[in-house]
Amino acid sequence: MLVLFFVGILTSNPASGKPVTIMQDTFLHKGKRKFLVQYLREKIGISDEKVLKAMNEVPRHLFLESIFEDYAYEDRAFPILAKQTISHPSTVAEQSELLQLRGKEKVLEIGTGCGYQTAVLVAMDAVVYTIERQKELHDFAVKKLGSLHLRPKFQSFGDGFAGLPTFAPFDKILVTCGAETLPTELLHQLKVGGIMVIPLGKTDEQILTRFTKKSEKEFEKEEFGAYKFVPMLNNTNQ
Ligand code: SAH
Repeated sequence: MLVLFFVGILTSNPASGKPVTIMQDTFLHKGKRKFLVQYLREKIGISDEKVLKAMNEVPRHLFLESIFEDYAYEDRAFPILAKQTISHPSTVAEQSELLQLRGKEKVLEIGTGCGYQTAVLVAMDAVVYTIERQKELHDFAVKKLGSLHLRPKFQSFGDGFAGLPTFAPFDKILVTCGAETLPTELLHQLKVGGIMVIPLGKTDEQILTRFTKKSEKEFEKEEFGAYKFVPMLNNTNQ
């Protein structure tokens, strides 16, 4: 089918007059997403149907630079703006599954990045509040999520260590960068019965950790293996 080969539309950039490619979501992309979802189910062991459905819907290639388009549905991380990284699809799926999302829960995400994980949470019906400390990524994600009609409830440019006290408490908190020390303020902003998923550890390796808030002072802690995330940094100048 001819349509399979149209991956973009050529138009011209009004500033430079040079042709630019506008990426589309074609049958080819949709087909690749189905294979990715099958891989996540069979090889990674993701069983939460809400996660799999959302990852089948969200066009990951549209969050990447066009040079990575052909590889967008492989289980790979890619560089994004501000020297940051979009996580592997398997990591996004595992983190999303660990949150045990049920319906319209209020979720705080730390590290919006390019907005892909945010979009997956929105597609899972979560009411998402997200924070990013890099201005260019924050701006990129605002535009991207708006254009895909996958807008979170609130997008903030700032330091995730502080959370969002005005909107607390949250049902769930997801940290998408690796924290050397536990951001205790975030645990305060979690409801009793709520869950926080966070990669914890030094820069070279972090342990994906889940905290369940049993009471105002008690937390259950579970660990889910080693990963490598970009670091969680606590000011906006780096
Ligand atoms: N979920 C993102 C992954 C981005 S990588 C995606 O799908 O693209 C982690 C992000 O955390 C980076 O964009 C980084 O800038 C951001 N980050 C690091 N420290 C932070 C902090 N203290 N507060 C908010 N965001 C932070």
